Amino acid sequence: MGIVVGVTSTPTSAPTMPGTPLSLYILGEKSDPLSERGVECPGDLPPASDPALVERARRAKAALGDRLFILGHHYQRDEVIQFADVTGDSFKLAREAAARPNAESIVFCGVHFMAESADILTADHQKVILPDLAAGCSMADMARLAQVEDAWDVLADAGVADATVPVTYMNSSADIKAFCGKHGGVVCTSSNAKAVLDWAYRRGQKVLFLPDQHLGRNTAVLQMGMRLDDCVLYDPRRQNGGLTEEQLQAAKMILWKGHCSVHGRFTPQAVDDVRTRIPGVQVLVHPECQHEVVLKSDLIGSTEFILQTIEKAPAGSKWAVGTELNLVKRLAMNHPDKEIVFLEQHVCYCATMNRIDLPHLVWALENLAQGHVVNQIVVDQETEHYAREALQRMLELPGETAKD
Ligand code: SF4
Repeated sequence: MGIVVGVTSTPTSAPTMPGTPLSLYILGEKSDPLSERGVECPGDLPPASDPALVERARRAKAALGDRLFILGHHYQRDEVIQFADVTGDSFKLAREAAARPNAESIVFCGVHFMAESADILTADHQKVILPDLAAGCSMADMARLAQVEDAWDVLADAGVADATVPVTYMNSSADIKAFCGKHGGVVCTSSNAKAVLDWAYRRGQKVLFLPDQHLGRNTAVLQMGMRLDDCVLYDPRRQNGGLTEEQLQAAKMILWKGHCSVHGRFTPQAVDDVRTRIPGVQVLVHPECQHEVVLKSDLIGSTEFILQTIEKAPAGSKWAVGTELNLVKRLAMNHPDKEIVFLEQHVCYCATMNRIDLPHLVWALENLAQGHVVNQIVVDQETEHYAREALQRMLELPGETAKD
């Protein structure tokens, strides 16, 4: 196998005042299953059945001109991606937004932690808008600040906190990034996790890796040469994480028990099945997949790596791709000369990414065009300060600034 290194408050019934922080809805909260609305939106959310939605989005976007910049994550629906000024992964998108200071309004078609990162990296006059406040991320939700603070106390009691560097994946909330910033830690992406871990192990003997156990384990074992039993799994729902002091003292990598509810569902069986179904197929998966899946795959890498690999692949090549379904479908559509299939037959779209649909985009754009800022995501100043510190440490790594 080729391993490739490859906000608090509730929505108001009136448009939100700029600077008013908004919190993420827990999926299902404030939902109205009998309507197309999904969650409460102040004002008039157009019905999905409105045939004029595309035209309305075009008109509102044109009216806003250069004052608006729309970011579209790779996992978004086609109906939304068609309006994106740039597409990419979360870190690339946040940096694209920061590079456009003339854009007063950044509409982030992605999930909550991405909009937070964009707010952290953009200037104060730029407003970051998330069209649907139910667009969270189950992985980010698996590491809450209070849980991580408790875990740090457990590490301190075991006498290992001083020797531990906290590292968080980009897919985490702003307050977890800030925790890492405050405690001498750093942020990583799926592209640069090894470089970031190399940096961390120059500063400490252990790493607390948040919140994705699979990215942490895959990087530690497949790229850094650790053994599986150098890693322990800290379960925030169990007393002391379910670990003894001796286990914490012996571990090199303390993995947080979190995972992506999309990538974590791919199975080793699916790899076997696709190899039987499509002779000669190459299996290409994201490092958020389980270790057992990665071990059976041919290539592993970030979303950008997956895109580039397919781009460069020869006509006639066959690929089974283990990442979010919207992206895999788009890859298949854009590369009709290659056979591209979704790795798993029992995995569906990322439910929260899919919350951002055309009605919510139209709702956000039309409000902006009328001078109303809705669903602005604002990270408080102290959190922003320390989260930026953790991001900055990553950006200062040699050769890492150009990577996503
Ligand atoms: S695909 Fe996974 S990591 Fe990405 S937003 Fe969805 S749940 Fe979160």
